[in-house]
Amino acid sequence: MNIILAKKRGFCSGVKRAVELAFSEAEKQERPVVILHELVHNDAVVQELKENDIVIVEDPAEAPHDSTLIFSAHGVSSAVENAARSLPLNIIDATCPLVKHVHTIAAARSGAGDVILLAGKRGHREVEGILGRIGGESHLLTSPVDAEKFIPDPTRSYTLVSQTTFFTNDFAAIRRILEKKIPDLHVENTICPSTIMRQEAVRKLAVECDLVIVVGSPGSSNSKRLCETAESVGTRAVLMGGDDPFPEALLAVGTLGVTSGASASEKEVAHLLKRLDKFFKKLG
Ligand code: SF4
Repeated sequence: MNIILAKKRGFCSGVKRAVELAFSEAEKQERPVVILHELVHNDAVVQELKENDIVIVEDPAEAPHDSTLIFSAHGVSSAVENAARSLPLNIIDATCPLVKHVHTIAAARSGAGDVILLAGKRGHREVEGILGRIGGESHLLTSPVDAEKFIPDPTRSYTLVSQTTFFTNDFAAIRRILEKKIPDLHVENTICPSTIMRQEAVRKLAVECDLVIVVGSPGSSNSKRLCETAESVGTRAVLMGGDDPFPEALLAVGTLGVTSGASASEKEVAHLLKRLDKFFKKLG
């Protein structure tokens, strides 16, 4: 069996920065280090943080007094940020600068009177953070179907932005649908370059493969988008983390593609390759 690795894969700059910030704070051993929500959606990284005595909380009020509280790469809403800053905590904001860029655009366009349309996944931390930065009216569009159903008010002006890890094909479809309904729609394509490059790389890879394995955790939105991208060219894709069992289809595969989500490290890709090697050696 041939194995082809995607040219662009793994940790993006935002995740790398957030993980390095957390470990460097823990190394100082000056005060307890607490992270608000999972720093990144990756089980292996979260486990490593816990092993370094870094605690995860779901509310700033749960952080011990005088501890260092780190905001995750996904960012937080204004309400959460204000609540955290009102407490006796040392705040470190590890929000990815590209997510902050979406906060800035959405808040500014909303402040200027636009209704904000956000293409994103319901319930995702980044989406909650972006929506929580908008003072005026906003709507979440999770798919082209939502865009079809959306009825604009002709007396209002609209801005369309995106979750940074949204599926590029869906964003393009949502944009096309909305532009027909809202002729003067202002569009800011805020899908981040790392996401675009990883989706492009897996699309090219999938064309040459019978199966694609995406290394990542089930909670990782961008890893799921990589699976969808591979499947959009007709190649089956599976999301695998740690020691997840291999799919049965692997036995019939001639060429296997491997990529990894923006929150998965190269260590995890190496682990998967080692397991594949053992698996096929066993089969003889
Ligand atoms: Fe930042 Fe892009 Fe990584 Fe999200 S995927 S953390 S926006 S670099």
